[in-house]
Amino acid sequence: MSATENPDALWRRALELDAADPLAAYREHFIGTDTELSYLDGNSLGRPLKRTVTDISGFIQDSWGGRLIRGWDEEWLELPQAIGEQLGRVVLGAAPGQTIIADSTTVVLYKLIRAALAAVTDPARTEIVLDTDNFPTDRYLVEGIAREEGLTLRWIDADPASGVSVDQVRAATGPATAVVLLSQIAYRSGFLANLPGITAAVHDAGALVVWDLCHSAGSVEIGLDAAGADFAAGCTYKYLNGGPGSPAFAYVNARHLPGLRQPIWGWMGRKDAFEMAAGYEAAPGIRGFLSGTPAIFGMLAMRGTLDLLEEAGMAAVRAKSRLLTAFAVGLHDAWLAPAGVGLSTPRDPELRGSHITVDHPAFLDMTAALWEQDVIPDFRAPQGIRIGLSPLSTSFAELYRGVAAIRDRLESGGFDKIGNVPVN
Ligand SMILES: *Cc1c(COP(=O)(O)O)cnc(C)c1O
Repeated sequence: MSATENPDALWRRALELDAADPLAAYREHFIGTDTELSYLDGNSLGRPLKRTVTDISGFIQDSWGGRLIRGWDEEWLELPQAIGEQLGRVVLGAAPGQTIIADSTTVVLYKLIRAALAAVTDPARTEIVLDTDNFPTDRYLVEGIAREEGLTLRWIDADPASGVSVDQVRAATGPATAVVLLSQIAYRSGFLANLPGITAAVHDAGALVVWDLCHSAGSVEIGLDAAGADFAAGCTYKYLNGGPGSPAFAYVNARHLPGLRQPIWGWMGRKDAFEMAAGYEAAPGIRGFLSGTPAIFGMLAMRGTLDLLEEAGMAAVRAKSRLLTAFAVGLHDAWLAPAGVGLSTPRDPELRGSHITVDHPAFLDMTAALWEQDVIPDFRAPQGIRIGLSPLSTSFAELYRGVAAIRDRLESGGFDKIGNVPVN
């Protein structure tokens, strides 16, 4: 696509891509996709499925309302593992018994990092490695853990327009490294890290890796078992459409499960929760990762998306994601680049996940105006708009409408404060 291509040709291209899209029919499973609204933030909060309405109301009516406290024994106590199992199989490339739904991503990461540190026995390993562009919660958590445990942080200086490379990880790790914490997809740039390559590099250094999969779960093929990854966590309210605040998932590779010591010892993670006996003894396997009463209500909605992902297959989802981000880059090149917008996402589709980030000083003020007109990307400081593309629910026409609205606002000067924008 060239910068001289006229808008109508791009519109025709969007319609062609939708017509040829083998996943196009999945869009109709989502609430609100029959309107002109352009939702470009499914990487932050996925749209709800229509079936979620009946899943949740049926649960209230029959399960909670009908079974009352009996529901725990009959079904609910098993749900964190049952749903975790499906998520592991469909999304993570994880064999049974290694994935569970629990807590929030922040809390799960805390438990995993502490568990990983507890599994490192060599006292010379006193460093946690992470990167400067990781998601804030990851950075803050590790700052806190380093203080608690008297450890040192070794920061990889990540390029905000791309991400962390295998070579950078090799250079930052060694005999002093205990644990490495990285995101597979950078929340800002969309850069897709080489998960198998980095996992191997961390292992070569004799350390353990904890992967944050918030932006990759449900958007790219992951393959945790195949890569031999140690630990992973991620959100279920982004590409898995679990709803605001739906609980996170935790993956612990089976080789680390025997004797795993996670730091929050609660009754639900004990070997027999209802024995209520003296002293904590972890439940065997991934169940020992639980702490308190699981958020059953919050984990119901994601099942609908897991079913759809299982049916569609992650390879097809990833293929559509590549086409969506490529079309978004094409629209950027044709319309936004001439207006002074920069692309802060890798051009190689193999090096990016399912969102792109475009930068311009006007975007800070423009985002609220776009939301007002039902065009919904999100803003990331200092001047980025993220265009998130959720392969099951986003159409190419929807993407076209959204980027066209950004172009029109840039052209009409529908913003005031160019050159007067704070930088963080
Ligand atoms: C969204 C996101 C989180 C969010 O963590 P919560 O505990 O759910 O607030 C964490 N890490 C990354 C990389 C994210 O993108």
